[in-house]
Formats: sequence, structure tokens, C-alpha cells
Amino acid sequence: MSEKTGRVFSGARPTGRQHLGNYLGAVRNYVDLQDDYDCIYCIVDIHALTTLSETGKLREWTYEMALDWLAAGIDPERGTILFVQSHVPQVTELHTILSMATPLGWLTRLPTFKEKVRQQPDNVNYGLVGYPVLMAADITLYKATVVPVGVDQAAHLEFTREIVRRFNNHFGEVLIEPQAKHTDFPKVLGIDGEQKMSKSLDNHIEIAATPEEIQQRVMQMVTDPQRQYRSDPGRPEVCNVFSLQKFFSADQAERIEQECRAADIGCVDCKRLFARNLADYFAPFRERRAALAAEPDRVWEILADGAQRATAIATAVMAEVREAVGLPPRR
Ligand code: SF4
Repeated sequence: MSEKTGRVFSGARPTGRQHLGNYLGAVRNYVDLQDDYDCIYCIVDIHALTTLSETGKLREWTYEMALDWLAAGIDPERGTILFVQSHVPQVTELHTILSMATPLGWLTRLPTFKEKVRQQPDNVNYGLVGYPVLMAADITLYKATVVPVGVDQAAHLEFTREIVRRFNNHFGEVLIEPQAKHTDFPKVLGIDGEQKMSKSLDNHIEIAATPEEIQQRVMQMVTDPQRQYRSDPGRPEVCNVFSLQKFFSADQAERIEQECRAADIGCVDCKRLFARNLADYFAPFRERRAALAAEPDRVWEILADGAQRATAIATAVMAEVREAVGLPPRR
């Protein structure tokens, strides 16, 4: 495909407008990976069906997420393929074939499965059990060599590697065992300073938020709980505002840290500064987003083009897989 060092695949469920946690944990990394890899990024709408009882927003969330990703710098003109999982139906065919090579006990023993059963006891569907197999199909259908993973996702990728080894042992070296590329950004906490930033917990800050919305959310952020008065010295190491300042106000972080410890800056002023820096950081992003949003068909066209390019890879891989497992050739 090119002189790059491998092929990256990553997918995320359609969750609509992205927040700082999505950006720092994934999107920013997706953008950077384009320098060194051929990248395939997928909005995994079929995966979303395993846990959603209401699916009415899936289209809107897919569109909004694609819009954010594109405006953030995921760039099909650099060769990146951006597409929607269900637009390349071969993934369901590979999922079925891989499921034959996956012992059921592997799946039901997974801590993630047990957790989902606990979370949605009234909706323990078959798709939920097979979720990791579908994930393996996502990755292997495009012969990805590298998958970016956070610390908490490493086990998922290891599962894919196990399925690949088992499949290849049985049918020959057809599928590629992907390598993990670990991402280093720690968990991003929400404005409550306690739980992981999440849209469902409404503790998030959207990257497409206006400067006014950013200011409003930032002013609600929990800081050092022991700092009750302006004259109390602060502890930046336990303050969520500071942990984000370090990224979005990197050139001022040292000064803020000193001023906080010496009680030379109050939390209100510190938050105002952070809100301004955050709004400035995303200003070019907001501009690109607005330009793209002005022609909504453009986003769907990009996704359709991505699906077409992904299909070309998937069709070739499925021909190899079908032959390897002995299915009769299609004429
Ligand atoms: S001054 Fe800033 S870094 Fe210090 S506790 Fe307040 S918000 Fe956090």
C-alpha cells in the first residue's frame, strides 16, 4: 500500500459528539498514527447493537462522531480509511467462521462478559457473548498488523490473537496476529473528578463545545477537595483541572503548579485560565468542523468511499479464508 510501517486498525462505537476523554484517549492518537501507518478506522455500529435497547440515535451519533474525527485530523486524503462497520458486511461472514474456531468457554469466562451480564441482566443476548469474536473479525478482516490499545483493552486484543492462533493452527497461516501498540494517556476523569469521563454520566466536556459551553462546564469541575479557602495551598497532584492543564496548557503548567501550591492563584482564576486555553486549543477544530457540517453529504460520501476501499481489502481476505476452511468457491 505504501512505505509506512504497518497497517493499523481501530474501531469505536458510535457515541456521537466526542468528549475530552475520547480525544485524549483515542482520537488524538488516531491522528498521530497516520504519520507512520496505513490506518483503518471504523465506527462499529454493529457492536453498539449488543448493548443498546434504543437504536434511534445510531445514525445521528455515527454522523456526529465521523464529523469530530475528520475535523480532528483523521484524513482520508492521507490514505486513511474511515468507514462504518455495517457497510462492509463481510465482517459478519468472518465473524461466523471465526465463531466456529472459538470455544464457548473462552467467551463466557471473560471478565468483560461477566461484567455486561451484571450490567444488563435482562438483555444477555447472543451477540454479547460473541462480541470478542466480532472484534477479532473486525481486526483480521483488514489484515491489520497493529492495534492501538489502552491498558484496560490489552486483554481484548490478546483474545483476538488467541483466536487467530487457533484458526491458523487449524487452517493454515491465513490471518495476521496483530500486535498491540500501547497508548500512554491515563484515564481521563469527568468534571466530577471521580469517574471516568463519559457522556452517559453527563460529566463530560465535548470537544466541539463553544467557548461559552466550555467555560460553563469547566467552572463546575471539582478541584482539590481539601482546598476550601482561597488562602489554602492547593495540591495540583490530586486536582483534575490540573491534570488536564498539563495537556492543554502545557507551557503554563509549571507556573500554575507553583502558584497553586503557594496559594497565589485561586481555583476560580485557574479554571478560567483553563477554559480559555481549552477553547483556544480547539478553535481550529471548531472551524474545520463547522465547514464540514455545512455540507452534511460530504461526511456520508467520505464514509461511503471508506467502505468501498475497506470492501476491496475484505473481499480478498474472505476469498482466502473461504478457501482455507474448505468452503466451495463462489462462481
Ligand atoms: S488552583 Fe488550579 S490546580 Fe490548584 S487546586 Fe485549584 S484548580 Fe486545581
